[in-house]
Formats: sequence, C-alpha cells, structure tokens
Amino acid sequence: MSQQYDVIVVGGGPGGYVAAIRAAQLGFKTACVEMWQDDAGKDRLGGTCLNVGCIPSKALLESSELFHKSQHELATHGISAENVSIDIAKMISRKNEIVDQLTGGIAQLFQANGIEWIKGRGRYLGDKVVEVTAHDDKVSEYKATKGVILAFGSLPIDIPVAKMDGEHIVSSTGALDFAEVPKRLGVIGAGVIGLEMGSVWQAVGSEVTVLEAMPDFLPFADKQLAKEAQRTFKKQGLDIKLGAKVTNAEVKDGEVVVSYEDKNGEQSAHFDKLLVAVGRKPNTQDVLGENTKVVIGDRGFIEVDEHCQTAEQGVFAIGDCVRGPMLAHKASEEGVMAAEILAGQAGHVRYDVIPSVIYTHPEMAWVGQSEEQLKEASVDYVKGDFPFAANGRAKAMNAAGGFVKILADAESDEILGAHIIGPNASEMIHELIVAMEFYAASEDVARIIHAHPTLSESIHEAALAISGGAIHKVNPKKK
Ligand code: FAD
Ligand code: NAD
Repeated sequence: MSQQYDVIVVGGGPGGYVAAIRAAQLGFKTACVEMWQDDAGKDRLGGTCLNVGCIPSKALLESSELFHKSQHELATHGISAENVSIDIAKMISRKNEIVDQLTGGIAQLFQANGIEWIKGRGRYLGDKVVEVTAHDDKVSEYKATKGVILAFGSLPIDIPVAKMDGEHIVSSTGALDFAEVPKRLGVIGAGVIGLEMGSVWQAVGSEVTVLEAMPDFLPFADKQLAKEAQRTFKKQGLDIKLGAKVTNAEVKDGEVVVSYEDKNGEQSAHFDKLLVAVGRKPNTQDVLGENTKVVIGDRGFIEVDEHCQTAEQGVFAIGDCVRGPMLAHKASEEGVMAAEILAGQAGHVRYDVIPSVIYTHPEMAWVGQSEEQLKEASVDYVKGDFPFAANGRAKAMNAAGGFVKILADAESDEILGAHIIGPNASEMIHELIVAMEFYAASEDVARIIHAHPTLSESIHEAALAISGGAIHKVNPKKK
C-alpha cells in the first residue's frame, strides 16, 4: 500500500516549494518530491532559482557592481581608493553562503509547515500516484487523495554547434562559478542570462563579446527601452554583435575558437570562456507514466489551461514546465493558484500583469504592453515619459541615465503598460504593477503625492506627462 498525502508536489523550485507551503497552510497533508543535489551531494530545495539562478546571479551582480563603482565612480564623489582589488574566490564563496542560507531556509519552512520532503526523482503515473526513485535507486509509490502539482522546472538549451564541456564552454551554471576572471568572455545569446552574466564578468574586468542570432536587440522589450539599453551597454564597452549566427565552437590550445556568420560573411573570435545562453527548455523528459491523461506538447511543455489544470482533473502543472514566461514569480503565483483551487478557492493569476526585470546596470523593468504591442493590436494609446536626467535624486546618485514611460488607453486613461530603464527600476516598477492590478488610470498615479527627492518622482512625472502636465520637463506641444 503506497503512502498517502492530500497533496503531492513534484519539484521544489519557486513553483513547487511555494505550492507546497501554500497547500500546507490550507490544511493539506503535503509532500514535496525534490531530487536536487549539489556538487558535494547535499540535498537541496529551491530549484534553479535559489541554487543556480536568480539568487546566485544577483549576489554576483552586487559584488561585481561594487567593484566596478569603486574603480570608476568613487573619484566623481571626491573619494580616492587606490589599489582596490577583487578576490574572486571570496566573491564566489559569499554567493555560495547566500545560496546555502536560503535553500536551508526553505527546508526549515517545510519543517515548520509539516511538509514531508521526499528526496528523489518523481514520475507521475496517473490516478494521482507519484513514483519516486530515491538516490539509492529504491523505488516507492505515493498516492495523493486531493491533488498533484507538477513543477519540474527547466534546463539550459544546448546547441550542437557549441557543445558545453563544463570548463571552457559553459551554461549559466558554469558562469556562476568561474575560478578567475576570464580575460575574454564570449556569450552566445543576448537574452536575459547573456546580459546579466555578461555584466557580472565585464564589471570585474572581462572583455565581453555577445553573439546574438537575431537582427534586433531585446526584441521582446519595448523598442525605446531596448534602444536605450543597447546604447548604454555599447558605451560601457559591451560588444554586442547582432545577426551573428554561430556555426562552430571548439576548444583549441586552451581557448575557445568560435566561428560565426554575420552580414560581412564568415568571422571567427577567440575566448577564454564561452557562455551558451540561448534559452531554457522544460525539464519534462521521462516524467510521465503511461496511464495518465496529462499531455506533454511538441516543445516539451505540459499542456494546461489558464488555471494550470492539466487534462487530468486535480493534477496541475506550474512554472517553467508550462507555457508563459520562465520567471520565478510567475511560477510561485501559479503554485499558490493551484493549491488554492485544490482547497476550493477561486485561484487566479493575472497573466497580463507579470513584471519582467533585467538586472543589469542600469536595470530594466516593465509590465503590461509595449508601444509595439499596442500598435499591433490597434489600441489607441497615449504616453508619458520622464528622463532620470531631470530627477534630482538620480543626479545625486550619479545614476541619471534612462527614463520612465507609461502607456495609457487614450479614452479610458487606464494604464496599459509601464517601462523603466534606470536606477532601481526593479523596485520602482511595483508602483505601476499595483496601479495596473487595481486598473488605475494614469491620472490616479499623477495625483498621488510622491516623496521628494526620490527616484519614484520620475513615475509621478511620467504620469503627469500623459496629460502634458509634467513639471520638471518641457511637455511636447499638444497637436
Ligand atoms: P525550477 O526552479 O527549475 O525548479 C524545478 C525543481 O524541480 C528543481 O529543483 C528540480 O531538481 C526539480 N525536479 C525536476 N524534475 C523532477 C523530478 N522528476 N522529480 C523530482 N524533482 C524534480 N527568474 C526570475 O524571475 N528572476 C531572476 O532574476 C531570474 N534569474 C535567473 C538567473 C539564471 C542564471 C537562471 C538560469 C534563471 C533565472 N530565472 C530568474 C528563472 C527562474 O530561475 C525560473 O523561472 C524558476 O526557477 C522556475 O521555477 P520552477 O519551480 O518552475 O522550476
Ligand atoms: P532568452 O530567451 O532570454 O535569450 C536567449 C537569446 O539567445 C535570444 O535573444 C535568442 O535570440 C538568442 N539565441 C538563440 N539561439 C541562438 C543561437 N544559436 N545563436 C545566437 N543567439 C541565439 O534565454 P536565456 O537568456 O537563456 O534565459 C532563459 C530564461 O531564464 C529566460 O526565459 C528568462 O525568463 C529566465 N531568466 C530570467 C531572468 C530575470 O528575470 N532577470 C534572469 C535570467 C534568466
């Protein structure tokens, strides 16, 4: 007789562990199956995000940016700091400590919530039965009486022309653990990982070249924002080659030789390390038994409806292994939704108000629609923008590049999108997310008192600019 739980979650990343905690809070006897082990063989919760994703990458971004500032910005403030150096081993071990603390924290939360952590690889067999192969190959079956939540996550995509060897040619996981600063770092893919990890290593001294197959930079972002980002990165010395199709990458005499084609024909480049960051794929190979109605589609994603319900009643799939953006906060909200639906609650995710952030310097953050998307959908919109160059706090911070842009419906004035590039964009965007969640008009934001002097005043000014009322810039003449 298999062991029984009310709810079994498979996968302990930000989708799965959040789903498990919410299920336990709602009174369900809950188990979470997680197979992750670190290099030392220690079992870990937290998935990609905590172990090799969001958290370690941001820890390194912080260290590398501090180093960069100490070298290039302190003098502007009249501070001289000579012979500043960086100890890469210390930077990496600080990152590892943060990962340790946070993944350990999830294990404590599991304990406090009475969640059983079943260590091993899970397969969903159907009829709410999960088979688990433990690390010692012992196979057990567990039955859920109420529901199953599948949160298998994702893996880096590998491309045949640049086979990863874990040493010279690496995925994002390898790029979080370089033992020393690569003098020349090549990156395939100018997406989120390429830009974030490229910034980390550039800030500590790497010469970074990014090879991007597409002709446009950040095609999924608002064009004005992407253009500003490209201009800024170029000024910082990041060499972004667009329309560059990699045809081969091989290690020769300890360096990586990359061949690629661009508009000028065949090219080659030599690097000490090459990061392959061309996207991620759902981790759904061999995760289903034969007796389930759950369907895995062509591209490997588990098929679900807008409530993350699979084709089998009471079986949900969430996070990176289903459609939608591969983001930790999206995975977590889907986890909460699935647990709440199992508890008979409404359960809801507003997919049109999921923020995107790129944690480079400057940061980029946006929510809702871009100008291009609104044009494409023939929506009549108005826009208001405001540059950080005219914001006193940004000037005081020596971070006056970038802007805030708000897009609103021309008739109802409801905010339809917001785009920020500049200091603390990742934090500032939340004011506009709250506004959009409450279907606010741009005038609502324009009438909110914003403290002075703050970066957030740029949001206020952008909202005022929609009706031509920005105070600290000259508003364009009304047509
Ligand atoms: P995952 O985090 O991948 O977790 C899935 C878990 O399931 C894993 O622990 C895995 O071991 C386990 N698992 C899989 N199959 C089985 C099985 N059969 N049995 C048992 N266990 C199984 N997102 C952001 O929102 N912000 C960021 O700043 C950000 N930065 C990132 C930086 C990097 C370098 C990377 C790689 C990703 C980043 N992401 C970021 C993306 C984010 O990590 C993912 O969107 C998020 O982790 C998805 O959560 P998940 O729970 O769906 O999957
Ligand atoms: P991505 O989809 O963001 O970018 C991949 C880039 O590689 C694209 O620009 C694509 O055109 C390019 N590309 C694809 N094949 C190529 C090839 N053969 N040669 C050259 N370029 C090629 O993927 P990613 O950067 O690997 O990130 C994976 C996922 O992780 C993303 O979906 C993202 O949501 C998530 N992530 C999020 C954050 C964040 O929220 N800040 C940070 C890191 C990762």
